[in-house]
Amino acid sequence: MVDFWMTQNVIQWINEFSVSAYRKFYPSAPAKDLGIDMKNIFECLVYLADQNMLELEYEKRCPECASKMYEDEVEGFVYCESCDDDIELTSDVVFPIFSVSENYRNEVKKNKQVQKNNLLLSFARKKLQQSLCDSF
Ligand SMILES: [Zn+2]
Repeated sequence: MVDFWMTQNVIQWINEFSVSAYRKFYPSAPAKDLGIDMKNIFECLVYLADQNMLELEYEKRCPECASKMYEDEVEGFVYCESCDDDIELTSDVVFPIFSVSENYRNEVKKNKQVQKNNLLLSFARKKLQQSLCDSF
């Protein structure tokens, strides 16, 4: 069961991330920023991926040289170009990586615009109030 308030914090983090220059993040990034342990944050991010807010993919990295491996798995092994070797595909080799879905990113950007408009609106109201006060 995903904690509601923790999820709110994570969504806030994702909103900020959405308007940043970055495109992808490892679960360790929000875990570190929000002080949430990896098991909980991963559960939460997978939940948000189920809601189509995030996209989850798995990155394969060589345990010997740490370079990314793009080859497809063949019978539990994947080929590392740098090492010129077949690496056994274990949980130490596969890393989950998340990206914000295009739809959600656009939604956040739209809301950002609205927030700015609201600020302008409150400024306009203040101005209006001021001029009303001045005229009396
Ligand atoms: Zn390697």
